[in-house]
Amino acid sequence: MRILLIEDELDLGTAIKWALKQEKYIVDWAMDGTTGWNYLESQWLQYRVVILDWLLPGMMGIELCRRLRAQQNPLPVLMLTAKDRVADKITGLDAGADDYLVKPFEMEELLARLRALQRRSPDLQTQQLELGGILLNYTNRTVHYQTEQGEIRPVLLTHKEFQLLEYFMSHPHQIMPAEQILYQLWDAGTDVASNVVAAQIRLLRRKLAEQGCCDFIETIPSMGYRINPHYA
Ligand code: CA
Repeated sequence: MRILLIEDELDLGTAIKWALKQEKYIVDWAMDGTTGWNYLESQWLQYRVVILDWLLPGMMGIELCRRLRAQQNPLPVLMLTAKDRVADKITGLDAGADDYLVKPFEMEELLARLRALQRRSPDLQTQQLELGGILLNYTNRTVHYQTEQGEIRPVLLTHKEFQLLEYFMSHPHQIMPAEQILYQLWDAGTDVASNVVAAQIRLLRRKLAEQGCCDFIETIPSMGYRINPHYA
């Protein structure tokens, strides 16, 4: 389950991202409104909920929310703000936010509100990603590979390998630097020099290859990794 977090405060953003990752969410974090909007424009279907700060550099959260709704986009929005006057809440809800959380708040409350929003929201996200014969199912968290002969084989992945594969399949044409993968999928403070990304990609490749899916992820020297264009 992927969440878009748009929050410019480093400490709060880090805390939220950490809490969400403990709950097995995958988090894309944008630190200004313009970047957040770019994420939404290019891949909003990847997200289940947006956590959106009101006061942001680039584009204000309220403006972003209005734009989203002007496009008839139904993605649930949880607005974060220090504003707690009734009039502000009404403004936020009128702009199309689905729920509203006043800073400071307890992480437990944020998580509870997220669960509620997911329950209420229609299932926007496709339940499956499919690319080059790989079928990744969000609902039961399984991965299968369909060979060229049509045989469907299960690929048994660990939680981290699943997240990694999902991350690649969600960005099929992008070259991902190891630092970016580390930032998105590992806890803050994980040592870049630890080669944890390279090691995890090696394991994932091996498991895919065992089922006949060879070279799904390729290495672009001194740039990063991407899905082999042959599959994408
Ligand atoms: Ca802010």
